[in-house]
Amino acid sequence: MKKEKGLLIVLSGPAGVGKGTVCAALRKENTDIQYSVSATTRSPRAGEEDGVNYFFKSREQFETMIEKNQLLEWAEYVGNYYGTPIDYVRQTLEAGTDIILEIEVQGALKVRERFPEGVFIFLMPPSLAELRKRIQGRGTETAEIIDKRMTVAKEEIEMMKKYDYVVENDEVELAVERIKAIVVAEHCKRERLIEKYKQLVEVE
Ligand code: 5GP
Repeated sequence: MKKEKGLLIVLSGPAGVGKGTVCAALRKENTDIQYSVSATTRSPRAGEEDGVNYFFKSREQFETMIEKNQLLEWAEYVGNYYGTPIDYVRQTLEAGTDIILEIEVQGALKVRERFPEGVFIFLMPPSLAELRKRIQGRGTETAEIIDKRMTVAKEEIEMMKKYDYVVENDEVELAVERIKAIVVAEHCKRERLIEKYKQLVEVE
């Protein structure tokens, strides 16, 4: 039987909704899902490591990656570049392993153009008030940046309608369970399995 390709899973949602926390919790569960590490021009926050949280790049280095077509998608977000290195994504999918991209909405829409078979999940905050609290709670941004992020967040929430699934992040454990359920269901989709079972279906 032919091996299935891995699932390309895109997790988006407004900044501050807890995508990073949800991804980290999913990671702890030791599922077979791999995580794409993005490149960015923003400075590392306390505790962030190059190659683990992001590949931290200068604008010049990032622009070279764009020119050399090394990115599956990229976007400018609150004054910085963010992008997904394409090679790791390709290799992982070809190996039959699922991969998650935790990216903002403009980038997600670009991924959809290139990978229409991807699974697009939108993480929703329980409310805008809660979202603001979470952005402030991080304590690493200035008031001006928080306001900018809230404005962007409201526009991003509008984009929910472009996604296949909406998962509320009321509690991290619940959000993780919902995402795991989506992944299991997606693996059982007929369209994904038809190639794998072709021989069985064709045999008399
Ligand atoms: P932060 O600066 O808080 O780490 O991330 C800001 C936003 O950029 C978040 O919404 C995050 O999901 C998004 N982001 C992170 N990596 C990428 C990427 O590779 N591409 C795109 N388009 N967005 C990304």
